[in-house]
Amino acid sequence: HAKDSGRGHYQFFTPDMSQRAFDALHMESQLREAIAGEQFVLHYQPQLSLADGRLVGLEALVRWQHPQRGLIGPDAFVPFAEARGLIAGIGRWVLCEACRQLKAWFGAGWPMVPVAVNLSAIEFRQPSLVQDITEILAAAGLAPQYLEIELTESVLMDPGGFALGTLSKLKALGVGLAIDDFGTGYSSLAYLKRYPIDKLKIDRSFVCDIPGDGDDVAITTAIVQMAHSLKLLTVAEGVETPEQRALLQSLGCDEYQGYLIARPMDTAALQAWMAQRSDNAVQPSSNSPSP
Ligand code: C2E
Ligand code: MG
Ligand code: MG
Ligand code: MG
Repeated sequence: HAKDSGRGHYQFFTPDMSQRAFDALHMESQLREAIAGEQFVLHYQPQLSLADGRLVGLEALVRWQHPQRGLIGPDAFVPFAEARGLIAGIGRWVLCEACRQLKAWFGAGWPMVPVAVNLSAIEFRQPSLVQDITEILAAAGLAPQYLEIELTESVLMDPGGFALGTLSKLKALGVGLAIDDFGTGYSSLAYLKRYPIDKLKIDRSFVCDIPGDGDDVAITTAIVQMAHSLKLLTVAEGVETPEQRALLQSLGCDEYQGYLIARPMDTAALQAWMAQRSDNAVQPSSNSPSP
């Protein structure tokens, strides 16, 4: 193909490849600008109790508000940021913003439920993490019990003992600890009894084909039973249908989130969602104006 192009020197760089190299370079500098300029926004997805439908939490999910390309989801930049050593700057902003926002909502009379923040394994291994979180909570004026950290199983695979130390310190501080995407990683179940974890979030891949897929029903059942034996709460991720919810309810799963309740929402949409809920909860039957 070198002859075909007549530019042998560049034969290994197809237009596609050079475009990708350019994109990566471009992406890195743009992400640095985004961190400096705080071009991020958090969307929030409600978590409800399966027993009684009450609001039990909000998960904060980051998006990049790119000046030209619009809103970019985390899967398109978080792994890249991790690889380039840029995730700590994003993660710090996420923690600060989630705590600040929750405190403001409490001030406005919203339900006192925790906010869940996703932490990548790289962020978790920062030696200053516990100190950083302590300071961020203090700066926001938020009690530690209102912050929940979501970690993936990869942080648990740590024979060196660093994870146990950090998890114990976070637990002592009072923040909640949840394992995200549970069942998809390779962590040993022995870690679950060793680590001070509060919650397992059952991965969406197991939830999406229940109740039809018998294998997924078996896995979900086993996770809920094991979690309860270990005194852990269970949260089902990615619940989209009433049938999924009904099965999870019958299994005794504690909480759920997913499109059946709501997509992750910006603060304006969440506010509207909250307002509609409290309207529904407080039926003004006696004092509503008669026509
Ligand atoms: P995750 O923490 O497991 O979050 C759940 C993802 O599933 C979210 O995607 C959410 O929008 C989506 N989801 C929720 N309900 C449903 C449903 O019913 N059906 C389907 N199909 N999807 C549903 P999102 O917001 O694109 O986030 C993707 C991942 O990016 C997250 O997975 C999390 O691992 C990561 N992430 C998000 N925010 C942050 C952050 O602030 N820091 C870090 N380090 N990672 C983050
Ligand atoms: Mg999560
Ligand atoms: Mg998840
Ligand atoms: Mg995930």
